[in-house]
Amino acid sequence: MSGKTVIIGIDGVPYDLIEGLANTGEMPNFAELLEEGNFSKMHAAIPEVSNVNWSSIVTGKNPGQHGVFGFTELIQGTYTVSFPDRRALKAEPFWKDDKRYMILNVPAMYPADEIDGVFVSGFVSPDFEKAIYPDSALKYLNDIDYKVDVDSEKAHKSYRLFLDNLFDTLEKRKKAAEHFWEKKWDVFMLVFTGSDRLEHFLIDAYYDEEHEYHERFIEYFREVDEIIGDIVEKMDEEDRLVMMSDHGMEQIKKNVNVNAVLEEHGLLKLGDEHDKRYKNIEEGTKAFALDPGRIYLNRKDRYPRGEVEDGEKTLEEMIDIFEDLTHDGEKVIKKIHRGEKVYHGDQTNKSPDLILTPNEGYNLKGSVKYDSVFAENIFSGKHTEDDAFLYCNDMPLPEDPTVEDVRSLIERDEDE
Ligand SMILES: [Zn+2]
Repeated sequence: MSGKTVIIGIDGVPYDLIEGLANTGEMPNFAELLEEGNFSKMHAAIPEVSNVNWSSIVTGKNPGQHGVFGFTELIQGTYTVSFPDRRALKAEPFWKDDKRYMILNVPAMYPADEIDGVFVSGFVSPDFEKAIYPDSALKYLNDIDYKVDVDSEKAHKSYRLFLDNLFDTLEKRKKAAEHFWEKKWDVFMLVFTGSDRLEHFLIDAYYDEEHEYHERFIEYFREVDEIIGDIVEKMDEEDRLVMMSDHGMEQIKKNVNVNAVLEEHGLLKLGDEHDKRYKNIEEGTKAFALDPGRIYLNRKDRYPRGEVEDGEKTLEEMIDIFEDLTHDGEKVIKKIHRGEKVYHGDQTNKSPDLILTPNEGYNLKGSVKYDSVFAENIFSGKHTEDDAFLYCNDMPLPEDPTVEDVRSLIERDEDE
C-alpha cells in the first residue's frame, strides 16, 4: 500500500528567497527538507498570474487547454470584463477521482467543488458560504472566524494594520489545517497566500535590513516554516511531500501601462478620456491589452467593434513598438510571445495574440485606467516567470520543470 500525499503551496515565493531563508536558519524545517529531497526552480505559466498558475498546477495543462489566461478576460463577443474562476476551468483538476481529499485554499478555485472530503476555495472568493464544502466545514470555519484571504485594503491605510491582519489570517489557516488533518484523507493540499500579498506590498523590506518591517517580513516566513514543520512531523515515512510556489517575485522599478503604449501609437481608441473602459473601445481600434501584458487583436469575428481580419501586419507593428520601448535608456520588454506558439488545445480561440514578458523591475499593467505609460504606485513587488520553486521529498523532479509538471508528482502511481 502506498502512502498518502501532502501538497503545500506558498503563493508567489521566489526560489532565491526561500532558499535564502533556509540557508540563514530562518526556515529550519524547510532547510532540513532540502537536505533530503529534490528542489528546483520552476517556470510559471505564461502569463505568470496566480490564477493561471494554479489552474495549470491542479490540471497539469496549459492555458490553451484549461482556458484560464489571466485574472480578467472579456466575455466572448463583448467588451465586458469578467473574472474567470473554477467555473471557467475547462480541464479536470486532480481531485476528480475516487480518492478522499482535503483541498484547502487553492486560488482561483471558487466556488467550492463538492468532493469526497473538504474543499475550501482560495482567493478570489466573494461569498464565504459558497467557498466551502461541506456544511460541517463551513460551520467550523465560521466558528473560528476563518479568512480565505488577507484584507489587502488595509495596506492602503497602514502597513501595521495590514500585517496584523496577515498574521491573524495565517494563525486561522494553521488552526484549520490542524483541524482538517485529523479527518480521513488520501491527499491533503494547503496553500499559503499571504506570502504573495506580503511581497507585493513589502518585498523592499526583505532586501533592506534597515526597513521598519524587515523583521516582520521574515517573521511571516518563520511562522510558515513552523506550520510546515508541524505537518512533516505528523507525516508517515512512506508519505509523499510536494511543495511549490506558483511564481516568483521581484522589486518594481516602474509600472508600465501597455494600453497607454497602444493608444499612443493609434492602435487603441478609447474615446472619452474621463471614462476609460473596455466597453468604450471605439471603432478604429486594432488591439488592446488585459493584465498583465496580454495583447488581443480587436478581431472582427470576436468583438462588437472588431475590425481586424488578418492581423499579421498589426502583430508585426506591435512587436516592433514593444521591442523599441525604453525607459531611462533601458529596454522594457525582454520577450514577446505569440499566443499561437505558446498555447495549444481546444481553448486557444480565447487566447491573447501576444504576451509580453518584461525585463527586471518593469511591472506590466493591462488596465485601461492610466494617465501615462510609466507610473508608480504603492506596490513594491511584482510577479516573475522563471523562478518559482518545486520540491518533492521522494521523487526526482522533471528537468527544467514548469507548473504543468506538478500534477505528475501529485498523482502517485499505485505500483511505486
Ligand atoms: Zn500576486
